[in-house]
Amino acid sequence: MGIKENLKIVQEQIAEYSEKAGVNPGSVELVAVSKTIEAPKIQQAYDAGQRMFGENKVQEFVEKSEKFEKDVKWNLIGRLQTNKVKYIMNHNVFLVHSLDRIGLAEELQKQGEKTNNMTDALIQLNIAEEETKSGLLTGEVDGFLEKVTQMDKIRLKGIMTIGPNTDDEMAIRRVFAKTKQIYDRLCAQMPSFEYLSMGMSHDFGLAILEGSNMVRVGTAIFGQRDYTNIP
Ligand SMILES: *Cc1c(COP(=O)(O)O)cnc(C)c1O
Repeated sequence: MGIKENLKIVQEQIAEYSEKAGVNPGSVELVAVSKTIEAPKIQQAYDAGQRMFGENKVQEFVEKSEKFEKDVKWNLIGRLQTNKVKYIMNHNVFLVHSLDRIGLAEELQKQGEKTNNMTDALIQLNIAEEETKSGLLTGEVDGFLEKVTQMDKIRLKGIMTIGPNTDDEMAIRRVFAKTKQIYDRLCAQMPSFEYLSMGMSHDFGLAILEGSNMVRVGTAIFGQRDYTNIP
């Protein structure tokens, strides 16, 4: 099946789950995760109307962003190395999903001051508390928020999490529900909050049922990634 058809199926599933969740289907943003995918395939999704894309490697993002029209909204979703921050300044990053440590916030602020660049970012939470995952633990969020709200080159736009690595749907839903609770609590004090980014190809339906308004979907749109193919 082609990318255009896959995209349509994913959009229909988003609409279906949104309806079940009792929210307007238009209120759930789709980030098409294009990491490792070559430009011609991304172009197919673009031609089908998709504008939000997600990348996880800075170099790959920079190369691709130069190939595409300026109306693409590039999301950075993977662990962002501090020494790579300077390369994303003034590069049209729509949203960083992986603000997961104070050192990264400090570097975004420092480079932002140098280049007069504002970064919109989501705080990544490790709700599943899996050791292999990045992200702040629940108890660390308030202290982190207090520090980062002092930084005028970072605008906090919400929360991101990755579901637990399991087939147990209830366990996945519990993690998403817990994240939504934290998101709602923080929304009350953070008027800039707008996005709750959770859900990937295998669990975006569950994420929407639990209140996600931004899903990051790669495989279901572009097919299995070929890791021998990274530019
Ligand atoms: C790769 C990736 C995705 C997309 O995963 P799929 O299973 O291909 O949909 C979503 N979020 C993050 C953080 C990723 O690294």
